[in-house]
Order: sequence, then C-alpha cells, then structure tokens
Amino acid sequence: MTATTTTSERPAGGGGDAELVDELHAWLEANWDPDLTVGEWWERLGMAGWSAPSLPEHAYGRGLSRAESVRVAQVIADFGALGAPAGLGLLLAAPTIVAHGTPEQIDTYVVDIVTGRKAWCQLFSEPSAGSDLAGLQTRAVRDGEEWVVNGQKVWTSGGQVADLGMLLARTDPLVPKHQGISYFALDMHQPGVEVRPLREMTGRALFNEVFLTDARVEAGALIGGVHQGWAVANTTLANERAGLGSGGGGGGGFGATPGTVAGHLERRAGDFAPRARNQAGGRAPSERPSPRAMRGSADPLISLARATGRNLDPAIRQALVRLYTWGELGRLNGLRLKAVRESGGDIPGMPNIAKLSMSNIVRLSRDVGLEIAGAAGTLHGYDEAGKASLEGALPDPLVSSVTEMALLAQAPPIYGGTDQIQRNIIGERVLGLPKEPSNDRTTPFAELAKNA
Ligand SMILES: Cc1cc2nc3c(=O)[nH]c(=O)nc-3n(C[C@H](O)[C@H](O)[C@H](O)COP(=O)(O)OP(=O)(O)OC[C@H]3O[C@@H](n4cnc5c(N)ncnc54)[C@H](O)[C@@H]3O)c2cc1C
Repeated sequence: MTATTTTSERPAGGGGDAELVDELHAWLEANWDPDLTVGEWWERLGMAGWSAPSLPEHAYGRGLSRAESVRVAQVIADFGALGAPAGLGLLLAAPTIVAHGTPEQIDTYVVDIVTGRKAWCQLFSEPSAGSDLAGLQTRAVRDGEEWVVNGQKVWTSGGQVADLGMLLARTDPLVPKHQGISYFALDMHQPGVEVRPLREMTGRALFNEVFLTDARVEAGALIGGVHQGWAVANTTLANERAGLGSGGGGGGGFGATPGTVAGHLERRAGDFAPRARNQAGGRAPSERPSPRAMRGSADPLISLARATGRNLDPAIRQALVRLYTWGELGRLNGLRLKAVRESGGDIPGMPNIAKLSMSNIVRLSRDVGLEIAGAAGTLHGYDEAGKASLEGALPDPLVSSVTEMALLAQAPPIYGGTDQIQRNIIGERVLGLPKEPSNDRTTPFAELAKNA
C-alpha cells in the first residue's frame, strides 16, 4: 500500500477547493524544505499522495479529479516548492498500470514513479508503425520465465534518461494485428537495449531511436495479460491525449528530471523550485516560460507585445484576441466535459477535439509570437549558456522563449496521434462516417502487406 497519510486525513474526491488548498498548504508548510535533496522531497510528496493525486488512494494517489490535480500542481508551484516528478511515468505509465496491472505491479512500479525514483519512456512507435501503431513489428518470444525482444523503436522521448520503457511488442503474428500485441515494462539498463539520441532543430535531443537486440523482460513485467496489449496501449494513449489536450504534462517538475540517469535526485530541491535563480543572475531555467507555457496561454505573448510596443499593431491585436479566445474555448470545453462526466455522461470525441484545438493554438502562438519578435525571432540559443547570453542581448528575454516554442511547434500536431488521425477518429467513431476499407481486422498480421 501507499501513502503515509491515512485515508481519513485525505480530502474526498469531490471535496471543496478551499478545503483541498488548505490541507495542501498545511502539508507544504510542514514538509517543504529547499535543502532536502530532490529525491528526499519527491519521496515525501509521492508518499503523501500529492505527486499523482488523480490516482486512486490504493495506488499512491488521492482519487482527485483531473481539474483538482491541476489545482494541486498550481498550489505547489505558487508555494515555491518543487513540483511532482513530471514525465511519461507520471502521465502515462502510472495510470496504465493502475488500470491493467496487478496489485504487485502497482507496488513495484507506481511507487517508484510517484517518488521520482524511476523514469519511464514510451516504446510504441517504430519506423513503419506510427499512425498505424498496431502494425508494429518488434517481436517478443517467450523463453522460460522471460520474453526475448528484438526490433526497433523510434521517436522515444526521454529514452536516454529512462530506467524503464512501456514496450509494445508482437507476441502472436498469426492473428489479426490488434490481437497479437503484448505490453511490457522493459528494463532499459541491459545490454540488449541501445539508445541513440536524435538531435532536433531546437538543438536538443528530446527523442531517440531504441534498438532492441535479444533484450530480456521477465514474465512478471507483462502488463494486462498476454496478447492483451492493444487494450492496455489504448489506456496509455487515452491518458496521453487527455494530458496533451489540456496542455498538461502530469506535474510541474520545473526542470528536475526523475530517475537514476539524469542525476537530479541527489541535487538540492530548492535549486529546481520556481523561485530559484541561477548563479549568473539571469533567469533560471525554472523561470523561463516553457514552450508548453508559451503555447498554453496568450498571456506571455500579450506581455511581450506590450513590452515591445507591438500591441499597437491592429493585426497583432486581432491575432492575440483570437489566441485568447481559442484558449478560453478550450478551458470552457474542459469544464463542460467535467460537468457532463460528473453527472455520469460523456462527450464523445472531446479528447480528440481538445488535441486538435491544441494544435491550432500551437500554430497560432508560433505565428503571432514570431510576428511580435520580428527579426530577433530568428536568433536561438542552442544550449543554456547560449540562451543566457542571447537573453541578455535581446530587447526582451521572452523573445528567446518564443523562438524555442516556434521551433518546437511542429511537434504537437504529430505526437500523441497526428491531426489527420484525430479527424479520422472523430469522423469514424463520433460522426459515424464509413471507415476506410481494410482487411486488417480479419487477416493474420503475418499475411498483411508491410513496409520493409
Ligand atoms: C516530438 C515527438 C515526440 C514523440 N514521442 C514519442 C514517444 O515518446 N514514444 C513513441 O512511441 N512515439 C513518439 N512519437 C511518435 C508519434 O507518436 C508518431 O510520430 C505519430 O504517431 C505519427 O507517426 P509517424 O511519425 O510514423 O507518421 P506516419 O504515421 O507515417 O504519418 C505520416 C503522415 O501521414 C498521415 N497519415 C497516416 N495515416 C493516415 C490515415 N489513416 N489517414 C490520414 N492521414 C494519415 C499522418 O497524419 C502524417 O501526416 C513522438 C513524435 C514526436 C513528433
């Protein structure tokens, strides 16, 4: 079992906002200490149920709604404490394991996620299986008490700092493609796993290729049963879309990375907290608006337009109002969905609509941001030192965040399912339009035509 806090001390899932905030404030007053190590702080946060409060109480959470969890992250940030160990473990692996795993798997994996001890990556996409994820070709073959895995994954975000991977592999090629897939927790620290970073135009290497050559997974690391991986993967993907559509990322770690590889667990928690400043006296990485913050709200761009005098340009004013309006529509749709769900209903397709809407906001943020930045928007710092010196030279340091956001703007309309795939889902599953003709639900995977 779980947190040090007892059930009776916890707010009920539907508890009032003020009550929740008061409880969290009191807890932060008693527990936050910037001189703790990141690992020590996340241990306290996770075991008290505050890292992933939307998880159920039996799984290291507090059974709160998504909106309440967003509020929790905001209160922690406003308090000036380091947020939860953000990443794909918290966002995707934990809710998936809670939904499909055994109690032993919850106690093995989820506890290490909420305390930041282990970082996860998502080993789904392959060179010829992205939108058509069920066409994946990585194979897992049973060998006694283990599975032996061979294949290649690609676009693996955070693979270079991951301890474990959510692995989809084909365990039966003789049945139709959705029916022969299994879902594993793969130990990334083994000789059969080779991670090769892919550098993007931002200068970072956010994602990787992962080559699996006779990699081993113990039988107990199979999540959700043999050949049942497609249903498990859909839980992961649903959490991904919900998180992306709401602009969320499962917590606000402010730059501290969970897991054993990044080396942040031994560092001072206060150095990653929102109020920390770097020694050079510039804007600390934790204070620079992230690309997600830049695209999630019109506020930073409105500030930048005011600071640079571009707020007087009617075309920019109009674009900023459009950006603000789309943001408000997204927020109101989120509230509408919450209200409908609380009364037992649903709005089919809303996560897909939310993700499409996020893509539109990203593109408009990029366009209006670069318009405001003008020629300075062509400059980019490719590392922390480059960013710091660029910020000193620019009319407003926010300009460098605009460029960073603009360079990353191509990614959100692709990851978590492209815009075209979201439209297909809305068309086929919500509007009832005819599906694309295909025999892939009835033909054994081994007999389907494939890319090389
Ligand atoms: C920044 C980033 C991070 C990522 N992180 C991860 C990760 O951590 N783990 C992971 O597993 N994957 C990750 N991905 C991969 C991502 O999920 C895939 O890129 C995505 O699913 C699209 O697959 P693909 O790149 O193979 O494109 P393809 O599927 O080859 O699509 C190419 C084009 O064809 C269109 N298309 C394809 N099929 C259809 C169709 N049926 N109807 C209409 N149009 C169609 C697509 O919309 C797209 O425009 C990441 C991607 C990005 C960009």
